[in-house]
Amino acid sequence: METDRTTDPREARLRERLEAIRVRSEKSTSWRTSTRYLSRLVNRNGFVPIRTRLSREDLSFLAGARDEVIAFAELGARLLDLHRPQEAGGITSDPDSPIRRCRACMWRWPCPTFRAIDDATHR
Ligand SMILES: [Zn+2]
Repeated sequence: METDRTTDPREARLRERLEAIRVRSEKSTSWRTSTRYLSRLVNRNGFVPIRTRLSREDLSFLAGARDEVIAFAELGARLLDLHRPQEAGGITSDPDSPIRRCRACMWRWPCPTFRAIDDATHR
């Protein structure tokens, strides 16, 4: 049997893990509206004493959310370290704006990886 060189089993595992994080996060309740209200109630000690109802899905999300967000922020920073522009050199019609390419993937700047990070962080 010929091996499929385009499929790495590690890719499938990574996709499964990312999908699990996405699904777990999506099932949890959004705190966007509540936190807007709650931030006005911070006491002089810097806290808001609250009582709340958390679903099983919320607890499952909250258990890993902090570590997962840190991991994704670090991932984004590492990708940005890798995908940076460099002068491509060569002939250009406009000497004031020379063609720049990504030093990691060689796509024209801004490269797809940079744009994906940019899109994901502007939601
Ligand atoms: Zn790149």
